[in-house]
Amino acid sequence: MSEVATYQLLDGKRCSEAVRADIAKGAVEVKSKRGRPPHLAAVLVGNDGASKTYVESKVKACEEVGFRSTLVRLPETITEEELLHRIASMNADPDLDGFIVQLPLPSHIDEERVTLAIAAHKDVDGFHPENIGRMVLGLDGYLPATPAGIVELLRHYRIETAGKHCVVIGRSHIVGTPMSILMSRNRYPGNCTVTLAHSRTQDLPAITIQADILIVAIGKPEFVTADMVKPGAVVVDVGIHRITDTAKKSGYRLVGDVRFDEVAPKCSWIAPVPGGVGPMTITSLLLNTLKAAKGG
Ligand code: NAD
Repeated sequence: MSEVATYQLLDGKRCSEAVRADIAKGAVEVKSKRGRPPHLAAVLVGNDGASKTYVESKVKACEEVGFRSTLVRLPETITEEELLHRIASMNADPDLDGFIVQLPLPSHIDEERVTLAIAAHKDVDGFHPENIGRMVLGLDGYLPATPAGIVELLRHYRIETAGKHCVVIGRSHIVGTPMSILMSRNRYPGNCTVTLAHSRTQDLPAITIQADILIVAIGKPEFVTADMVKPGAVVVDVGIHRITDTAKKSGYRLVGDVRFDEVAPKCSWIAPVPGGVGPMTITSLLLNTLKAAKGG
């Protein structure tokens, strides 16, 4: 089999800029109709460095498109009941269109209980069972932010999906599982034949090599190597990891779940890390918040 000589980037930063320009126009319309812009709140529990970075970039993105944003910082020691109480008051706050609780939470707090406590109409992360159910049935609701961002990225670059074999690696509730559902829906982007691979999958490379579209959300740095990828495949790398790099001023660099340098030359399209899925996840969050501000 001959290898594809060049590849193109699924540039999440550029795609986000285009979508966010439209979101900013939507924010102006909301403000003129409702007297205030869309308002998103982000709840951050504890001091985890990566979570803090993610939340801060979400808050910054809100400001850039003209949304109001509130960062709710809560101590690591907060009890589950206290957190649920805060969530109940945010559910009832008419000045707040949507909110997210940044995961992971400290181990003494039940994440499932917290996710269930967020009112479905304010669940702009799209994690609530009602929104997941709506997605499965193809009904209107809030799509989970990362898979929705990937769908948007594929749409932006007009990637052909109908009839393609899409392999998703990872079955988490927030990425892999909803991703597999979105790619199998009877619409564009979708209509794929989907294989969902996970930790119990046998002979993973024999499956990934068949993928026309390979979406990797496994959470292991540079796990996918060139021998696992079909020539000409479209590869979407969801993973994000900091690995030590003494050559960098920061002391680390970001890598994905895919070994980019050896995989990219085999691809027709590939989403890089950073600058691929990450910005699209935040863009989806903004889209969901705008939708909430317009009345769902
Ligand atoms: P997770 O740890 O919840 O799930 C990982 C999945 O990989 C599991 O379902 C597991 O079954 C599967 N898996 C583990 N080992 C495997 C193996 N050897 N073979 C096949 N499957 C295997 O992770 P997640 O929350 O879905 O996140 C995945 C990655 O994506 C992480 O690196 C995370 O940081 C990143 N992420 C990025 C964004 C973004 O916006 N860029 C958003 C969410 C998650």
